[in-house]
Amino acid sequence: MVRHDILQLLAEHPEEYVSGERISQYLNVTRAAIWKHIKALKDEGFEIEGQTKNGYRLLKTPLSLNEWALEQVLTTISLGRTICLEDELASTNIRAKELAHQGGVHGLTVLAKYQSVGQGRLQRQWESPRGGLWMSVVLRPDLSLADASKLTLAASVAIVDALEALYQLRVGIKWPNDIVYNGQKLAGILGEVVGEWNVVQTLILGMGINVNFPRGRLSASLRATTLYEILGYEVDLNILAATILKHLENKVISLEQKAFNELRLSWLERAVGLGEEVRVLQRERAVQGVFKGISIDGALLLETENGEKSFSAGEVQLRSNTSTYF
Ligand code: ADP
Repeated sequence: MVRHDILQLLAEHPEEYVSGERISQYLNVTRAAIWKHIKALKDEGFEIEGQTKNGYRLLKTPLSLNEWALEQVLTTISLGRTICLEDELASTNIRAKELAHQGGVHGLTVLAKYQSVGQGRLQRQWESPRGGLWMSVVLRPDLSLADASKLTLAASVAIVDALEALYQLRVGIKWPNDIVYNGQKLAGILGEVVGEWNVVQTLILGMGINVNFPRGRLSASLRATTLYEILGYEVDLNILAATILKHLENKVISLEQKAFNELRLSWLERAVGLGEEVRVLQRERAVQGVFKGISIDGALLLETENGEKSFSAGEVQLRSNTSTYF
């Protein structure tokens, strides 16, 4: 793609101007075509300085999602190495499922700048205005179906670790995998298994993070917040996506090597509501008890009047009795 070649050339000369003539010769395109490409790149959010005498200089890459910019900061082996980035999608999970059915590889990552029908767990809707990170990864790990919920736990820890590494921000995890800050939801995760019985053939891991937009873009009824609200500035979505993918990849590899305990401990370190009296909602039924943690199988552990009980992530919702956290 000529546009990417131009960026590459400019990026290789960060401190200098690259003349139009040089670009034109190097890429075998006319000066007029270069001018058009540069204009399109500026519209995409690249800051490019153009001087009639000297040529062009790349000053800044966009904060919004961009395939080239993402590739520059990606350090993974397989996650995000194949990208499908759209301006608008109904839902990144739906597109990722379609692509998985068509043979999409392990690590294929679907991103959208806006989702018109973003999905939450249990058929709920996920509001996805522009400026958020709406991303779904196709995973074809060497794991059994029983391990699927561990992958969603891995995704929540990957997001938490990335937020801490990039912005020194400490957030909590509400079981099984909502990311919360001061009791308000910052991100959600939706894992969907596409597979044969007993084998996680494919897992679609959808992650939705409220990033570069004010809280006001979301329904007032939600207990939600955004990174912009917390930090007070906009962040680079490409760096955020790349960092999450890197952390997630490492965790998937650890899980494949059967190292769940380390992940379980990281998850517990960030869990909100541990040791508290909670309610677990299972369809029509509610079970009261003390939230003890997660088992070695990734299930929620509750100390009830009738002894310890465990619940798998797909089945239940956790509610606080004091409603401090969720
Ligand atoms: P939970 O299991 O905590 O209810 P889900 O993972 O099912 O959450 O997410 C869907 C719910 O999250 C919605 O029903 C809504 O209440 C809330 N929600 C929807 N969009 C957003 C958003 N962008 N930020 C925070 N919360 C949201």
